[in-house]
Amino acid sequence: MSTTTKKKKLQSLQKRGSYLSQAQNQINLLEKEKLHGTRFSEKLKEHGQFPLKPDPLEIMQVNVGYMCDLTCEHCHVDAGPDRKEIMTQETMELILKAIDQVGVKTVDLTGGAPEMNPNFKWFVEELSKRNVHVIVRSNLTILVSNKNFRTYPEFMKEHGIEIIASLPCYTQDNVDKQRGSGVFNRSIEALRVLNELGYGKEGSGLDLHLVFNPGGASLPPDQKGLENDYKIRLKEDWGIEFNNLYTITNLPISRYLDFLLAADKYESYMDTLVNAYNPVAADNVMCKNTLSIDWEGYMYDCDFNQMLQLKVAGDRQHIKDFNHKEILNRYIKIGQHCYGCTAGAGSSCQGTTV
Ligand code: SF4
Ligand code: SF4
Repeated sequence: MSTTTKKKKLQSLQKRGSYLSQAQNQINLLEKEKLHGTRFSEKLKEHGQFPLKPDPLEIMQVNVGYMCDLTCEHCHVDAGPDRKEIMTQETMELILKAIDQVGVKTVDLTGGAPEMNPNFKWFVEELSKRNVHVIVRSNLTILVSNKNFRTYPEFMKEHGIEIIASLPCYTQDNVDKQRGSGVFNRSIEALRVLNELGYGKEGSGLDLHLVFNPGGASLPPDQKGLENDYKIRLKEDWGIEFNNLYTITNLPISRYLDFLLAADKYESYMDTLVNAYNPVAADNVMCKNTLSIDWEGYMYDCDFNQMLQLKVAGDRQHIKDFNHKEILNRYIKIGQHCYGCTAGAGSSCQGTTV
């Protein structure tokens, strides 16, 4: 009998039939009568920041599906190989119509693993024709997972795609603990492929940014300091180069909420977030200039609200009914989870906000 204890492969909350797979149950928990800390809306009012209103729309963040080759412990999407929700080409066409109407300059493709959407390349090509800057949130492992996906780095280079890739630590142990066995080595392999193409190299114009999120129930450390550590360790240990490191705070939703509850750390984590409220960070939350769209074409203030099924305020909530004026005049839907964006140095899909 083997003496090694193999960690059980994680499944999505949906597959496990967890009560947290229902967005409303998460909201009930977060917004229950006896709250941990002041209500987020009250906190905004204290600082004269209520209600949250959008600035001009700059980024469309399109979630092209919840399927992923990984099942990371902290995933706020509850993504995984068992998720089948995938955006169709018809929905992408509706998004392109809205982009043409507004002239959005940046589209941020996320998932799941966005590369797993069968129309991924077609969508990128259509965006490129429109001179839209494309960001892809890649988990790296998908880029070296098989012969087909190994063609993607070259394709991304051809289209000048900016890559924002998750790598929650520069050590194998920490990455594999959070993302699954073998993930670190495959991520390093993918980073080498990207570096060879010029990604992350100074002067190449091919941006490769890495994303850190804490493994435990704490706020991220100083972004610049950690970026220096990453640069030294990845260069010395693996010869890897990259542009910037983005530190992201885990929001208390989905699988991270499940993790907090299982570790009996939910209340203390909420206290940490609430006590670290920073009004400057609240002024710069990403929902002000970004609109999130789900695989079915529904619109949200951000990817987190998407996971909580909190669609944009107003009657026109589907991209087929996109109305720029209404989107700009809406108020942003908020809740206790928003404290994750306003704690300390702030957190967004582009890292800290202050
Ligand atoms: S790679 Fe990203 S989307 Fe996939 S399970 Fe991990 S955190 Fe979720
Ligand atoms: S969770 Fe979403 S809606 Fe709330 S502050 Fe963050 S970006 Fe804005």
